[in-house]
Amino acid sequence: MRPNVKCPSCVELGERSKVRQTVTRGAEPSDLFYDEDGEWHVHDPNIPTFRFRCSAGHDWEEQDVDQTRCSWCGWTADAGHAANRPAAQ
Ligand SMILES: [Zn+2]
Ligand SMILES: [Zn+2]
Repeated sequence: MRPNVKCPSCVELGERSKVRQTVTRGAEPSDLFYDEDGEWHVHDPNIPTFRFRCSAGHDWEEQDVDQTRCSWCGWTADAGHAANRPAAQ
């Protein structure tokens, strides 16, 4: 959940609307482990997709990679995916 979400189209039009949010995640298994120091890591490769729909019928999508951040080492799904890709030159 994030504070202060308003429909950007309605804001542009000067309208007020209610915004409903749904979240979907991928089905990849999370990598959960205790490291060599016994610290708990949660590495979830599924970047959640937030779908928003306002009461005036506008809809849009956002992805939030920060939701996958490991609270111990700061790993994110973005970094994990990037590490699996050959470096772009
Ligand atoms: Zn709207
Ligand atoms: Zn970690």
